[in-house]
Amino acid sequence: MPKIAIVGCKRIQDQLCIACEKCLKAVSVKDGEFARYDDEIELVALGNCGDCPGLIMPKITLMEEIAKSIGREYDIIHLGTCVVKAKKTGQCPLDFDKIKTLVKENFGKEVVVGTHNY
Ligand code: SF4
Ligand code: SF4
Repeated sequence: MPKIAIVGCKRIQDQLCIACEKCLKAVSVKDGEFARYDDEIELVALGNCGDCPGLIMPKITLMEEIAKSIGREYDIIHLGTCVVKAKKTGQCPLDFDKIKTLVKENFGKEVVVGTHNY
């Protein structure tokens, strides 16, 4: 069972999609970037990037620490569609390739860019 954490854009999470219902639906029915998983998905964490100008690595580090401390570790981090939109249409400074490399090097985990397509 893939164990997932979703990281959204601090500036527009819960505003682009109120109450994050779109990601929750996509996880539930395996739409969008969740269609890649055959097994049922366990959503372990749903948080934000830590804000501009790019505090995502400290935030992911904290997420890791908490996940370990409560025995609820996850395997894969999805960057929310809100993050993708912030990058495409706003001035989001995140470098997705760099984040993928840093997360792999530091935590041995995969980062997938995107979540739902609604
Ligand atoms: S893309 Fe996902 S994480 Fe971002 S605001 Fe929408 S539902 Fe929430
Ligand atoms: S614009 Fe980018 S760095 Fe700023 S809050 Fe949104 S996702 Fe995070």
